[in-house]
Amino acid sequence: MPKGVAKADLPTKICAACGRPFAWRKKWARDWEAVRYCSDKCRGAIKTGAEAAPRTVSSRRRPGPTNS
Ligand SMILES: [Zn+2]
Repeated sequence: MPKGVAKADLPTKICAACGRPFAWRKKWARDWEAVRYCSDKCRGAIKTGAEAAPRTVSSRRRPGPTNS
């Protein structure tokens, strides 16, 4: 990754939910250090997903109905 700063001096982070980089936003100005997700959608997905069924994640890694 190049360390050069773009025209905008905005810092970026990696979303903990979708794994995509996102740039600083004005609404996060107050607690940018605490921001971990790119959007409320991702934050909600992590929250509900983790609390709903943590076990389901591993068993759902193989998509595709295979009936022999
Ligand atoms: Zn995200």
